[in-house]
Amino acid sequence: MVKHTGGCHCGAVRYEVEGESLTHALCHCSDCRRHAGAPMVGWTMYPQASVRVTRGEPAVYESSEHGRRRFCRDCGTGLFYSNAQTLPGLIDVQSATYDDPDAVPAKVHIQTAERIAWMEHAHELPTFERYPPKA
Ligand SMILES: [Zn+2]
Ligand SMILES: [Zn+2]
Repeated sequence: MVKHTGGCHCGAVRYEVEGESLTHALCHCSDCRRHAGAPMVGWTMYPQASVRVTRGEPAVYESSEHGRRRFCRDCGTGLFYSNAQTLPGLIDVQSATYDDPDAVPAKVHIQTAERIAWMEHAHELPTFERYPPKA
């Protein structure tokens, strides 16, 4: 069975996921954006039983009535999202926290109704392998 490992930036929380993800969505909602402090957040969805925390214990933030965001209390990295009402039995793993984030490619953009306007064309911006040359 396919297995992926990942964890937070400082290493205090580590996890393991087993099996194929149900989807991999790039979420543009304002809750994800504000909690992550990032323009969008990638989520791979799994049945709850497929995800196991192997080190540490994430803290829980109640980001909405039923939304629960788990993150590392030491370094702040967002790790998991669950919602017993809208996603019973499921858990979303913040896909950029995989040890190999290329392993499970993103499939869709969701919640684009709340997307930052300039994000629609972000892929058209000039790119630099490191930084722009100094003027
Ligand atoms: Zn950490
Ligand atoms: Zn979201």
